[in-house]
Amino acid sequence: MEEITGKSITGMVTIGPLRIFRRKGFEVKEEKVERPETEVARLDSARNAAAARMKEFYQEAISRVGLDNAAIFKIYQQMLTSSEFIDSVRAMIRNQSINAEAAVAQAEKNFSEVYGTDPDAYMASHISDIQEIARILLRTLRQKKALFSGEEPCILYADDLTPNETIQMETGKILGFITKEGTPASHTAILARALGVPAIVATGKDIEDSFDGKIAVIDGFSGTVYLEPTEGILSVMKEKQDQSIRLKELLQQLKGLPSVTEDGKKVEIAANVSSASDLAAVLKNDAEGIGLFRSEFIYMGRDSLPTEEEQFNIYKLALETMAGKRVIIRTLDIGADKEASAFHLPKEENPALGLRAIRICLKQPDIFKTQLRSILRASAYGRAAIMFPLITSVWEVWKAKEILNEVKMELDKKGIAYDHHMEVGIMIETPAAALISDKLAQEVDFFSIGTNDLSQYTLVVDRTSRVLSEFFNPYHPAVMKLIRMSVENAHKEGIWVGICGELGSDLSMTEAFLRMGVDEFSAAPYSVLPLRKQVRSLNLSEKK
Ligand code: PEP
Ligand code: MG
Repeated sequence: MEEITGKSITGMVTIGPLRIFRRKGFEVKEEKVERPETEVARLDSARNAAAARMKEFYQEAISRVGLDNAAIFKIYQQMLTSSEFIDSVRAMIRNQSINAEAAVAQAEKNFSEVYGTDPDAYMASHISDIQEIARILLRTLRQKKALFSGEEPCILYADDLTPNETIQMETGKILGFITKEGTPASHTAILARALGVPAIVATGKDIEDSFDGKIAVIDGFSGTVYLEPTEGILSVMKEKQDQSIRLKELLQQLKGLPSVTEDGKKVEIAANVSSASDLAAVLKNDAEGIGLFRSEFIYMGRDSLPTEEEQFNIYKLALETMAGKRVIIRTLDIGADKEASAFHLPKEENPALGLRAIRICLKQPDIFKTQLRSILRASAYGRAAIMFPLITSVWEVWKAKEILNEVKMELDKKGIAYDHHMEVGIMIETPAAALISDKLAQEVDFFSIGTNDLSQYTLVVDRTSRVLSEFFNPYHPAVMKLIRMSVENAHKEGIWVGICGELGSDLSMTEAFLRMGVDEFSAAPYSVLPLRKQVRSLNLSEKK
């Protein structure tokens, strides 16, 4: 038996045969070519094919691991479309009359040599992106798909996995991951969390090929991997595995129970969704409603705007599926990291500070009105609520409500049914909104706090940045102060307040948020039952 330790990603135990994934290196031979332009054309066609693949991966990754974590594929797509690296490969083919493969390999080597020793963390991460682009291009030029697809369920070992590799894994067959490198924020870790399987990263130890096919155990509670475990270890681990399965079952028993603390404070635990395909998970996890329907996903990944009818059908399906439970539809939150080509948004220096979300809607009321009409019409089929994103000023709420009223009047004239009492709320996700939440609370029926953007805009850190992660601290006292202030102001005006950003699903924060007075949590569907368990275990009457 061999024992290795590393950083654990999920507290779970898994047992199964080990499969070793080794990245196949590409042996690149330099050849002289007579017509360099033919090689440039070959490069361009591989580049276009690879960029199109990255676009598909981006869409797929959004639903698997969320928008922020999917962003890397967007970066790859952009680098393949136009970058210094690609310019350098082209120049090399033309100046040296060499084949595309040799130029890619040589350019990658040059970039690594020039920038590889740069102490700047940004450059280090840029180099690893260039290395990945080179691998993708070489694989495409050779039309190879050297990726893992296991025949039977297994625990996968790799030195590390790139995002491009993880997205192509046949994930249904993976019981867990072990990687020599990586961090809890690496792509292997993100994928493991999304799949709900254990992973141990950063073991610092290579596993020899002789272990391929042998039994391995991942103990995600202690961060230990056992290779070819002894009978004794195997039976202890099986018991631990049974215990964690029992915990999962225990969570299942919480279905149908109220989300109420020991001392009787009742809260609502709802789910965040991005599309109709998430509805099954919402029901399976017994969410008490949909606290955030990210409607912008209906607009993304297509070249034309969705029609009123198309949107109406999606919202109606969500409302009927939720059968009377509240469904909060957030109006389109396009812009910044959520690109939708149909909007033809201008290129901006700082898109996160630019034309996005409610700003687009107020500037293009026709698009806004189409969405509002579809939501209002769907509201006749359940309990819909509407929510406006990225609010910073009271006038924006007035204007958005004015447009909503115009649409209501148009529907009234035509005798089209809708819910006349539909709640209207706003996201509190900018420091400005939190700071004037006393005024905003007089205008709406509820607040939902978006801790992702609230942290980004308070801390001045791009939420998608991979090099600034140590500066992105959503627990920062400034963020907490803004949350507390918003909750207090909401309650002073007698409206309810929820949290729909990532921080809402952080169980270590549940008690603090409840003590602040938060009335609702909305999180990924798989977080609903753990949150209910946490709420039910708390007693707020005990002084802290
Ligand atoms: C947020 O900003 O916290 C939020 C919930 O909205 P999104 O993540 O979609 O921007
Ligand atoms: Mg947001």
